[in-house]
Amino acid sequence: MPVAARDSWLYLFRDRSNGTFACVLYALLWASSGLSQRRAERPNIVLISIDTLRFDRLGCTGYTKSSTPNLDQLAKEAVLFEHVYTPVPITLPSHASLLTSSHPSTHGVRDNGEALASTVPTLAEQFRNHGYQTAAFIGSFVLDRRFGLARGFDSYWGEFALHRFAGADPGQVQIRGDSVEAAAEDWIRLHGGSPFFLFIHFYDLHGPYLLPASWRSRFAGRTYDGELAYVDSLIGKLRLKLRESGLYDRTVLAVTADHGEGLGDHGERNHGFFLYRATTQVPLIIRVPGGARTGGRVKSTTPLIDIAPTLTEIAGVPTPASFEGRSVLSEMEGRALAPVAAYSETLYPFLHFHTSPLYS
Ligand SMILES: [Zn+2]
Repeated sequence: MPVAARDSWLYLFRDRSNGTFACVLYALLWASSGLSQRRAERPNIVLISIDTLRFDRLGCTGYTKSSTPNLDQLAKEAVLFEHVYTPVPITLPSHASLLTSSHPSTHGVRDNGEALASTVPTLAEQFRNHGYQTAAFIGSFVLDRRFGLARGFDSYWGEFALHRFAGADPGQVQIRGDSVEAAAEDWIRLHGGSPFFLFIHFYDLHGPYLLPASWRSRFAGRTYDGELAYVDSLIGKLRLKLRESGLYDRTVLAVTADHGEGLGDHGERNHGFFLYRATTQVPLIIRVPGGARTGGRVKSTTPLIDIAPTLTEIAGVPTPASFEGRSVLSEMEGRALAPVAAYSETLYPFLHFHTSPLYS
């Protein structure tokens, strides 16, 4: 389907039970509308990154001890990608790749604490340049605006009180998920009237854990699972807010992660040092209202950098030439693309321990 056709009710709200009638009706609506009306009809895009989420810890990806009912339900309404790999299992470089659709060697951010160059086009800029409101809600100082990812966002929420963390690892400076979700809800309440692109970052699965006491007691000895259950509940809260606002069926929801967590596999407790699947494979769930193959699975290898061009194609926004990924919307609709390999790297062992960097 050409991009122009996606930029309309014709694609997003296709009624499969009464397809012909709906297509004719929506095509007439689309043909009679002006540019501003077409923009108003564009879908909202919400991209959620659950920092440090392993692929294999969701009920919908086979985890038998899961407590992720909201994400599991979302997967039933969406398409789940089973083989998504991050280009780098480190928070800032991976998010730079996610939000610029480029590899670390291109965008230049190889480790936390570096800054994205102002010359690298971002997904947020592309949405803003094409009429979208843009806002981000950040759960970790690692993604603070000083590191360059705020470019293109009208609002970049996340103030980190560094004075309270004097001497601490900057990676520990975070905002708990309930505050992040509440800020996103407030923004939606004020700005939900015209198309928006939201980026929401939950850091709760990344240590140190700030799980509320009631959740901690429920998941005694299983803190990682408890943090995930907690974030899952926040995503359920956000979905409810979108429903109550009448926005749910006009909103594309994409949930993924920047990297996984070792949890002891291969002797790695956290992430960043090795390139095993525990830390490179992440979930990806994309729900398109009225989209094809609800509950479907994509088994092809999908680099994380493919997410941004997929979202621009779904939104009917041109994909920047600088994006190195490709849209996988065809895969979501059951049409296989040519196979690709996923590249991953980590310079962390070299930069911090003077051992060899790893490339895969
Ligand atoms: Zn991370």
